Amino acid sequence: MELHERSIAQLSAGLRSGEVSSTELTKHMLQRIRMHDAALNSFITVTEELALTQAKAADARIADGTAGALTGIPIAHKDIFCTRDVRTSCGSRMLKDFVSPYDATVVENLQRAGVVMLGKTNMDEFAMGSSNETSHFGPVRNPWDRETVPGGSSGGSAAAVAARLCIAATGTDTGGSIRQPAALTGITGLKPTYGRCSRWGMIAFASSLDQAGPMTRSAEDAALMLTGMAGFDERDSTSAQRPVDDYVAALGQDIRGVRIGIVREFMGEGLDAGVGASIQVAIDELKRLGAEIVEVSLPNAGLSVPAYYVVAPAECSSNLARFDGVRYGHRCAAPKDLEDLYKRSRSEGFGPEVKRRIMIGTYALSAGYYDAYYLKAQKIRQLIADDFRKAFAECDVIVGPTAPSTAFRIGEKADDPVSMYLSDIYTIAVNLAGLPGMSIPVQPSAGMPVGLQLIGGLFDEARLLNVAHQLQLATDWHRQAPAGF
Ligand code: GLN
Repeated sequence: MELHERSIAQLSAGLRSGEVSSTELTKHMLQRIRMHDAALNSFITVTEELALTQAKAADARIADGTAGALTGIPIAHKDIFCTRDVRTSCGSRMLKDFVSPYDATVVENLQRAGVVMLGKTNMDEFAMGSSNETSHFGPVRNPWDRETVPGGSSGGSAAAVAARLCIAATGTDTGGSIRQPAALTGITGLKPTYGRCSRWGMIAFASSLDQAGPMTRSAEDAALMLTGMAGFDERDSTSAQRPVDDYVAALGQDIRGVRIGIVREFMGEGLDAGVGASIQVAIDELKRLGAEIVEVSLPNAGLSVPAYYVVAPAECSSNLARFDGVRYGHRCAAPKDLEDLYKRSRSEGFGPEVKRRIMIGTYALSAGYYDAYYLKAQKIRQLIADDFRKAFAECDVIVGPTAPSTAFRIGEKADDPVSMYLSDIYTIAVNLAGLPGMSIPVQPSAGMPVGLQLIGGLFDEARLLNVAHQLQLATDWHRQAPAGF
């Protein structure tokens, strides 16, 4: 098997046995990026020199016996994570020349584990989007069909992992941005419980929803990556003060008797028939493996998209106020006065989708409207969290589709924000409730990847990963790769 086709566990064994060095592996991956990324645009920045330095350090650790499972593994970071001395653009003109003075905690944690950073991946501007078309650096293409989108906002990470230009990548998910691109590109993506991975140094979009997670080619790799990313961080006041489970050890359990809940509201209208058929095949396979299938209901799930599009813009309008042309980021030329400086720097620095969200959020938070919109959305959020609590009294894991269709064509939804927003119809409720959610590839539909979403109770990542892993042990959907890569 070629190096880029191997899993983290396989590469880790190869590194330890001396069959391959991290330097060789890193050079191989950098060569693949050079060869293939012009067709995909999945990277904004490639950090070749840094990668080779880190690979050399990893080789030294492997030689002196202090290496862990991730030491020497080449990965990529979504360009929303601050990386010291490396450009951190967040997919925006506003930050296109911003070089971060520090590393995000997630980056630091993975670095401590010894990973090699190949570069920073493309994304929707400030993580607002479901197609990677809002990036200042141009759209990312889906390696399965380059006329289609890879999903978003972590579309660069998804395309890079799917095309095997990196072994794994980080992503962030505010309303579906890890799971939906994972589904559209046929990879495994996990959004952990809110607070499981630190948000420190992760550029804020909607702080009560944002969460970092791994994007990989298998559940086993996701377990290894999450182990390296998660943990309490005193620099993030919303970080969970609870020990990290042993995700890898949890992978060995069979799933006989596990109660799988199928959400009635997710399997009907609005779901593409081909996607629905693939989801059913996966459910049948879970049943064959001994899981017990039960039907559950989330009666308020239909309100998740409208509630999200009040809460997320409200929080983003506040978070993005810091980009004012004064401290960092884009500054307009020759401002007349302070007002002109703010206005022009922000007008020039932000793209149309970001401006739309800032306007919606500012409106929703303004005096007189706060109760009508923001407060109401927060109440709906509580209702959705209660729905999940009730559903989890009847089942252990919820499964269903990740996205309503396979990858759509570039440009198809670009002028229709509402149809774009509906791409996340099955993922957003999970963020509103703070729960962990995962997407894994199942049987493709008309040659394009389909994602099965698995949702767990709070901090139930280990169980989600195990169910996904058991399904992957019994099937080979996750081993399929796009032609030409
Ligand atoms: N697509 C959703 C949005 O545009 C979710 C994005 C995300 O999860 N970062 O807001």
